[in-house]
Amino acid sequence: MTNSTSRSTSLAFFACLLATLMLAAAPCLAHDGASNGALNTAQLQDARRKAAALTQALAGGAVRYSAARRDQRGPLETALLAAAEERFVILSSLLDEDPKAVLDLSLSAEVVSKLPSSLNSYLEQDAELNGTLAILHEDTLDGGRYHYVLYAAGARYSLHFVDGAPSHLRTDAKIRVKGKRLGDMLALGGGGSVQQTAPAPLPKTLGALRTLVILVNFSDNPTQPYTVDDAHAAMFGVTSSFFMENSYQQSWLVGDVYGWFTIPVSGAVCDYTTIASAAQNAAVAAGANLAAYDHLVYAFPQNACQWWGLSSVGGLPSQSWINGAFELTVLGHELGHGLGLYHAHALDCGTAAVGSVMTTAYPPAPGTCFMIEYGDIIDMMGSAYPGHYSAFQKERLGWLNAGLSPPATTITTSGTYTLESLEIQSGNPKALKILKSQDPTTGAKTWYYVEARQPIGFDSVLNTTSSTVGIVSTIPNGVLVHVGTEGSGNSGALLDMNPATDMSIWDWLVDAPLLAGQTFTDPGSGVTMTTQWVNSTAAAVTVSLGASTPSISTTVTVTTDQTTYTRGQSAAITAKVSSGGSPVANATVTFQIVKPTGSVVNASATTGKTGTAVYMLRLRKQDPVGIYQADAKATKGSQSSTAETTFTVK
Ligand SMILES: [Zn+2]
Repeated sequence: MTNSTSRSTSLAFFACLLATLMLAAAPCLAHDGASNGALNTAQLQDARRKAAALTQALAGGAVRYSAARRDQRGPLETALLAAAEERFVILSSLLDEDPKAVLDLSLSAEVVSKLPSSLNSYLEQDAELNGTLAILHEDTLDGGRYHYVLYAAGARYSLHFVDGAPSHLRTDAKIRVKGKRLGDMLALGGGGSVQQTAPAPLPKTLGALRTLVILVNFSDNPTQPYTVDDAHAAMFGVTSSFFMENSYQQSWLVGDVYGWFTIPVSGAVCDYTTIASAAQNAAVAAGANLAAYDHLVYAFPQNACQWWGLSSVGGLPSQSWINGAFELTVLGHELGHGLGLYHAHALDCGTAAVGSVMTTAYPPAPGTCFMIEYGDIIDMMGSAYPGHYSAFQKERLGWLNAGLSPPATTITTSGTYTLESLEIQSGNPKALKILKSQDPTTGAKTWYYVEARQPIGFDSVLNTTSSTVGIVSTIPNGVLVHVGTEGSGNSGALLDMNPATDMSIWDWLVDAPLLAGQTFTDPGSGVTMTTQWVNSTAAAVTVSLGASTPSISTTVTVTTDQTTYTRGQSAAITAKVSSGGSPVANATVTFQIVKPTGSVVNASATTGKTGTAVYMLRLRKQDPVGIYQADAKATKGSQSSTAETTFTVK
């Protein structure tokens, strides 16, 4: 799980420095995790010790209480209640950073049954809940953290994962959780503690993205730090242009700015939920139709919140909060979260470029790798520099290697391949994909993504960094190599192709690229890549697949014959199965269609000579309207692959 306390001080400093260089007016908040309300190591140990002692006291007290005569129970109950209250406060403070402690210290059902019922609201309870997930990310100048929230049966619960948060889930997924509830918090650990019952609808990432900006200020700070016209230009001018260029002219922002509204909220508190509802109420009162937008953005003068931006990861609509300066560097990042993107990481494996053992200790010990949360500093999702999203991120958005988007070339045979610079607005291949490994259990593939970057358009940040940091980037003289795992949005990371000379995060501007003439060899698979040449528009890379390179396995795509249907029509859902670009016959395809109400239709079919299998879904009069999700899983021998698409029923 990602949170600000897991990073080293030096990295936090770099992120802070980075933000400050970009924003002369922004203060560099040099606080560590502890000032975010988190506990430091000594406080954590102290809290665990106290909670354990109070748990012992309650267990012993339960025995005495149940054995006591009725007239002796009053004073015992008073003492037990005080202990339970104190324990509740301590466990609540522990939950964020050590949910395992809460599970380990939980009282048995037998003990709870012996305690007076007046203690119940202070005791953890077994909980099994079905609801809707929201994933929120806050971006501070020195890092950030995720919040996982479950909306179930009219209540809101914060989720705390013992084994790290599941990264395949998106905001609005329907989930079932099983764990211990403490007040409105849930500690989840072990197998089966989180199950997805229906996936989130795919965020809309193509075409006009309808965005509503609501400007609000506070009853005790009714200032307007920028004008409506400024906000309009920042969102629908420059940020829209950023999306247009990144998506190869396929995605842009349209919409409205409402406000300024003064809401009955103080600027001295940090309560983003109340800000959102008050902003929505004010906009609706002024005539806004919230249902007409894909993204809701609440913007306000700097308040007590420690972060500059906060956003849901995905969501229909997505929600973002902008605290203070309203400009591309925060908007392109938070709306990227809104489209479902996680951060652009970098992998620091010490003096190696890759490794298979991950560590949370920095610097990483030899043979291990540390994931730097905001490490890919020329991807907008990794810094306050408005660089292009990486090829891995663009593929996730459907802006690369899907539909009408420019392709990425999947390498199935050794050879020399050219790729065009990532920024160039054309249909030529923009990246190379080379299979790195495949998870033996889940079948998920991890790929190398090779891309070439030049200071063109928004990637002129490559020049900006040179002048602000005083380091001339060598990125235009080579290619960048990332890793990313399919189905795992939080897995994308930039690699350091010259790890021996790594000294600071700024070295990534110099060290990361595989420069012309350099060769990288993956010690695991034996794949080698050599950059042959790079010019101002393209690069060529010779790829040699190793003896133990995993073979390119079966892949499936799924499409529908229309994007929108009316009830009474039939939807033709087609799965196409291929391997290394050739059709695969006699593959078993299982279809799963999830209706907007969550009900599920399953079917299966076998592919013919063309590698396709079709399922006709008859839409009956009583079927719900809304967005349907269609999944196809293709299986051939020991290999399988899945894909999903959505369509709308009106
Ligand atoms: Zn972020």
